[in-house]
Amino acid sequence: MTRKFDGKTLLVATHNKGKLEEIALLLRDFGIEVTSATDHDLPEPEETGTTFVENARIKAHAAAQATGLPALSDDSGLEVSALDGAPGVYTADWAETGNGRDFELAMKKVYDALLENGAAKPWNARFCCTFVLAWPDGHDEVFPGYANGTLTWPTRGTQGHGYDPMFVPLGHDITFGEMDRWKKTRMSHRADAFKKLVKAFGD
Ligand code: IMP
Repeated sequence: MTRKFDGKTLLVATHNKGKLEEIALLLRDFGIEVTSATDHDLPEPEETGTTFVENARIKAHAAAQATGLPALSDDSGLEVSALDGAPGVYTADWAETGNGRDFELAMKKVYDALLENGAAKPWNARFCCTFVLAWPDGHDEVFPGYANGTLTWPTRGTQGHGYDPMFVPLGHDITFGEMDRWKKTRMSHRADAFKKLVKAFGD
């Protein structure tokens, strides 16, 4: 049976401001307060997994163990069909410069890889998100979510975060980077995973 979250405050196991803002938006209507890994000064655990689920489990359990609170983690990334699913779980790594993350550079790497492959348009892609809600006693619940779309170049828009300026969600002609933040959040991979979490908790 699904274990339900019945607390008032949820620890979101991330230092990523973009993810945190979107998760807080999704939780807004549920009257749940959000604290973050940054608020608790938690170290970032090494993401040694090879799947979104493994990495999300690492982050959620590390935060739950460190604080004694139930913790929600998000492991996410961009899968590009013509690149056999890359960058996938390594989406954040493609932005690493040795001196912080640079997402303009990361998006250019994706574009260059598509050109190198001679990939025909449309450049189909999807954002993936896995939420893991973990409790200090080691129990967890897993919720995956997806947002389908295509990639475009040059990048467009200054809203959002990460790879948003190159991603055009299915059925739209503007990028997530050009879209109102709440509108993007509601149709995102994170919203899809969140719907499953809410449904599981309602059942
Ligand atoms: P991780 O979950 O910490 O491994 O990192 C996920 C990576 O995917 C980060 O580089 C994010 O910027 C990127 N990413 C995840 N969700 C989104 C999104 O909603 N928009 C744009 N990029 C995202």
